Order: sequence, then C-alpha cells, then structure tokens
Amino acid sequence: MSPDLMNTIGVVLQVILALAGAFFFAFWISLVIWTFRDIRARTRDVFAQILATLLVLLFTPFLGAGLVLYLLLRPKETLAEAYERALEEEALLRDIEEQPACPNCQRPVQADWRACPYCRETLKTPCPYCGKLMALDWVICPYCAREPSRRSHELRESLPLETAPLGKSE
Ligand SMILES: [Zn+2]
Ligand SMILES: [Zn+2]
Repeated sequence: MSPDLMNTIGVVLQVILALAGAFFFAFWISLVIWTFRDIRARTRDVFAQILATLLVLLFTPFLGAGLVLYLLLRPKETLAEAYERALEEEALLRDIEEQPACPNCQRPVQADWRACPYCRETLKTPCPYCGKLMALDWVICPYCAREPSRRSHELRESLPLETAPLGKSE
C-alpha cells in the first residue's frame, strides 16, 4: 500500500469517527432534553426534575444506563393522566353516592318509591299540601315551601287567606 492510500484511509476513518461522535452527541443531548420535558410532565418537584435530567446527562454515555434507570424510576403517570384519573374516580364516587339506597337495608331503591320493597321501610311521604313525594328528613316541602309538620295549624290559617280575594278584607 502506498503512503497516499494509507493517508486517505486515515482521513476517511477520521471523518467517519467525527460524524459518529457528532451523531452520538446530538442523540445524547436530545435524550437529555426529552428527559427534562418528560419529567416535567410527571412531577412538579424541581429537585426530582434536576435529578432525573442529571441522571440521563451523566450516565447515558455508559451504555445508556442513565436513560434505562430513568425509565425504571420515573413516575408512572404524567400529571395530566393523574388529573384525568382523579376526575374519573370522583365521577364514579359521585355516581355511587347519588344512587339512592334504603336507609334500613341499604339496597338500591328508586327515587320515586314510597317504601322499600325489600324491608318495608318507609322512604318518602307525599306532601299533605301539594302531594309531591318528600324525603322523610326534609323539613319543608321543596315544591310548595310549606311545612308538613305544622299541617293542621297552618291549614286552618293559610287556606282562608289564600282563597280570599285581595282587598276584600277592607
Ligand atoms: Zn330496605
Ligand atoms: Zn308540598
């Protein structure tokens, strides 16, 4: 082999090595940036964000150890996913709470039932004034705003007043 050819091969090898090095460096920095963005989507803890980024920055050149460690240790959910899940759980909980249950036997009942068909427990009573169904613990009827507990007292007083035409009392 002539010295010229040896020289050319040397230069080509150097260029290939430089390109490989540049590619590796760019890839490494991209991984660090990706890690920084990824950890910021997963935690608001600044210390954890710095630690994760440093881990990938310092240890990824060792056969990708930093990146592998980060992928193993990072929080499973992103903050957006955790928020989504919290909302779903809350909605589920609300559904369960809103499903009316018999106070005696805890079995599901319908909102318009007057008695529990399983244990005979009274669930609702009709309002003595307007006839709409009222829960037993309601103090006044939400439909006509009158108090069933003072029924006899109020019926005598309020009915003549309401049926009397205005101005007739004078
Ligand atoms: Zn019941
Ligand atoms: Zn009523």
